[in-house]
Amino acid sequence: MGIVVLAIGKTDEEVMASLKESLNHAFNRPVSIGKELPEPDYAFNNKRNQYLATTILNRLVKGREYSNYERILGVVDHDLFVPELNFVFGLAGERAAVIALPRLRQSFYGLPEENTTFQRRVLIEAVHELGHTYGLGHCRNPRCVMFFSNSLSDTDRKEPDLCESCKERVFI
Ligand SMILES: [Zn+2]
Ligand SMILES: [Zn+2]
Repeated sequence: MGIVVLAIGKTDEEVMASLKESLNHAFNRPVSIGKELPEPDYAFNNKRNQYLATTILNRLVKGREYSNYERILGVVDHDLFVPELNFVFGLAGERAAVIALPRLRQSFYGLPEENTTFQRRVLIEAVHELGHTYGLGHCRNPRCVMFFSNSLSDTDRKEPDLCESCKERVFI
């Protein structure tokens, strides 16, 4: 049944619509937008004032209503973390991935908002994390979406698509 994309709490509607198209293009699989899920209060960490990404991933995988889908992508408009890192842009498990929007906005860094840049970063993060769920590791091609981003300038250099060799590995 392809990929299902789920907003976890309030997110950006434009993001959800453009994800549908871009993920379909990148993975050549049907993409559906599921019903918005409640805010992920269960994953909130008081001390860090962030949400634990792994808890959200586990919740996505457990949802019976998504068991027919090949992959699940959760989109959260909250800052995510894993215990060993200050923050994560996203996280991938075996069948599900989650991406966080706040740090993809220029305004997060005190800069004027640039919607095109924001939308593009979201697509790149989404394809990257889903790429991991399809078994792809990091790619050496700096233009490829699977190139490891150390910073947003790395992210902005990438295309929101898999390079030919990564594509081949997903589509076998
Ligand atoms: Zn990665
Ligand atoms: Zn690649």
